[in-house]
Amino acid sequence: MNDAIRPQPGILDIALYEGGAAHVAGLTDAIKLSSNENPFGPSDRAREAFSRAVHFLHRYPNTDHRGLRTAIGEVHGLDPDRIICGAGSDEIIHFLCQAYAGPGDEVLFTEHGFLMYRISAMAAGATPVAVRERERTTDVDALLAGTTERTKLVFVANPNNPTGTMIGLSELERLANGLPPQAILVIDGAYAEYVEDYDGGADLATRLPNVVMTRTFSKIYGLGGLRIGWGYGPRAIIDVLNRIRGPFNLSTAQLETAEAAVRDRDHIDRCRTENARMRAWLAEALAEKGVPSDTSTANFILARFADEAEAAACDAALRAEGLIVRQVKGYGLPHCLRITVGDEPSCRRVAHVIGQFKARL
Ligand code: PMP
Repeated sequence: MNDAIRPQPGILDIALYEGGAAHVAGLTDAIKLSSNENPFGPSDRAREAFSRAVHFLHRYPNTDHRGLRTAIGEVHGLDPDRIICGAGSDEIIHFLCQAYAGPGDEVLFTEHGFLMYRISAMAAGATPVAVRERERTTDVDALLAGTTERTKLVFVANPNNPTGTMIGLSELERLANGLPPQAILVIDGAYAEYVEDYDGGADLATRLPNVVMTRTFSKIYGLGGLRIGWGYGPRAIIDVLNRIRGPFNLSTAQLETAEAAVRDRDHIDRCRTENARMRAWLAEALAEKGVPSDTSTANFILARFADEAEAAACDAALRAEGLIVRQVKGYGLPHCLRITVGDEPSCRRVAHVIGQFKARL
C-alpha cells in the first residue's frame, strides 16, 4: 500500500451507510419493509415511459432536464427555473454540502435525522452537528440555539425519517427567519406526498431567500430503483448547484419516467390513501400487542421496544419469518424498529409475527 495516497482529512471517519440492499442479500422471497419503498411501485404510465426510453440508449440525455422541470413546475405550481434534478435527493443534499460547506463550517441536523446529512457534510470537509430533538420530534428552539457564525446548512426532514413525526410550516418559517444570515434551511420533503394538503415547504422556498426544499421520486412515486430527486429554491442557490452538477447526471430513462410519474396524480392519491389506511391499522395493531409508536405522518412507523436487546430479538424473529425491517441503530434509536407500511398482507403478517414475539416474552 502506498502511504502517500490518502483521501482528504476526515473522509475515513465517515461511517458507511447502514442498510439498503444488503438487507435483502440472498432473501429473494422476503417481504422487504426496511427502506420505505412504495409496495405498489410506480404508476403504469411511468412504467410505459421507462420502456420507451430503451430506444434512446445510444444517445446522451438532455442536460438541462427541461421536460422534467417543466412537468414538476406545472404539477406543483413552481417556477421550473428554480428547480434542479439529481440522482435521488441524496445527490441534491450532496450538491448543497459541496457548494456551501467546507472545512471549519458546520452542518446542522436533528439527532435522529437522515444519515446522508452527516455523510455529505463530512464528505465536504465540514463538521456535522446533531441537535437534540424533543420526544423524537424536530425542536426548532434547539436548532436555533445550536447555530453559530459557522453554520452553513440546517437540514430538517419533514416528515422526519426515521421518527415519522413532523412539525408545522409556521415552525419551519420561524426556524428560517431565526437563522444566522449565512445559513440555508433545507426542508427535506422526501415523504411530503404522504401528508394530505402539505406542500413540503414549497411556499417557504418560494418566499424566503434562505430556504431550499428537496423532494424525491423514491418514495410515493415508487421509483427508488431509478434514482431521481429534485430541489427547489432561490434562483441564486439553484444556479450555484447547477455549476457543480455533472451535465449528464440523469439518464433519459430517469428523466422520461419521472416526467410521466409526476403527471399521474391519480396513482399518487391512491397510494397516499392506502398508506394512511394501513399505517393507522398497523400502529393500532402493534399498540394492542404492547408495541407503541409515535403518530407517523409518513409511510413507515417507528415501533418502540423496551431496549436494544428486545428490538434486536424481535428483528431476528421477523427475519426468521422472511420479514425485513430496520433496527435504526445508526440513527441513535437502537431500541426501535422502523417498519415500512407495506400492502395489507405484509402489514398483517408483520403485526402477527410481532404479536407472537411479544407473547413469548
Ligand atoms: N431524505 C430522507 C429523509 C430520506 O429518508 C431519504 C431516503 N431514505 C432521502 C432523503 C433520499 O432519498 P433518495 O436519494 O432516494 O431520493
